Amino acid sequence: MADRVAIVTGAARGIGAAVAQRLAADGFAVALLDLDEQAVRDGAEKIVAGGGKAFAAKLDVSDEAQVNEVVARVADELGAPTVLVNNAGILRDNLLFKMTADDWDAVINVHLRGAFLMSKAVQAYQTKEGWGRVVNLSSTSALGNRGQANYSAAKAGLQGFTKTLAIELGKFGVTVNAIAPGFIATEMTAATAARMGVDFEDLKKGAAQTIPVQRVGTPDDIAHTTSFLVSEGAGFVSGQVIYVAGGPKD
Ligand code: NAP
Repeated sequence: MADRVAIVTGAARGIGAAVAQRLAADGFAVALLDLDEQAVRDGAEKIVAGGGKAFAAKLDVSDEAQVNEVVARVADELGAPTVLVNNAGILRDNLLFKMTADDWDAVINVHLRGAFLMSKAVQAYQTKEGWGRVVNLSSTSALGNRGQANYSAAKAGLQGFTKTLAIELGKFGVTVNAIAPGFIATEMTAATAARMGVDFEDLKKGAAQTIPVQRVGTPDDIAHTTSFLVSEGAGFVSGQVIYVAGGPKD
């Protein structure tokens, strides 16, 4: 993978940070992009200190001009980006009758518009190179989850987006898949616990009891699956949604 360049959005922390470190360990040059510039700089420094190649930049994935500018900078700094992990995400949970139009728009914009803009910018390099991998972060919430009308619509939307890109880009050597994580211990789920007024450790313990493998997931569980999907050997796997949830979810 020496000459291959991977972009990870939302790479400041949680799943994105773990995916970035794993892809660097796999030999990719990695571009870490996030709203939190200092955190992605720290992540990139760690990769470089370990002997890898990395680039970090501040990016709002829902801003078209920023996306096009930053993806071009990645190409200048590291080479043509042919791997894209659309991971950036936010929550604005509320029951439908309390959910505002802003809550709806914010979630749809980051997950769906963000994945669309990033994929469109990166496909220009993938189709030219005749090789590529896209991994979109969906969620078990795509199957429906109380208080998440916006998020579940976005995560289900990403599954349709994944299958369509797989059909369109296959002839260029590009595979497109989605990972649908279950409960993963990150700041996102910690924030959910805080909003519910529940201790995070108690929330994790309760969740683990409902999961067949009897534990909640870690960012490394998702990084491992991503590593497989972007590998050379996964070239015949495309348009799939892999539930990484400690048990069957669909
Ligand atoms: P996280 O800890 O909240 O990290 C998400 C990262 O995305 C943050 O660094 C955040 O930056 C960044 N981000 C948010 N909006 C952005 C934007 N407009 N442009 C660029 N970056 C942006 O979340 P996580 O738990 O690692 O989740 C990562 C992905 O997995 C998300 O798509 C999430 O929906 C999905 N997922 C998570 C779980 C779970 O249980 N944790 C389950 C299923 C799916 P700031 O901190 O600066 O806002």
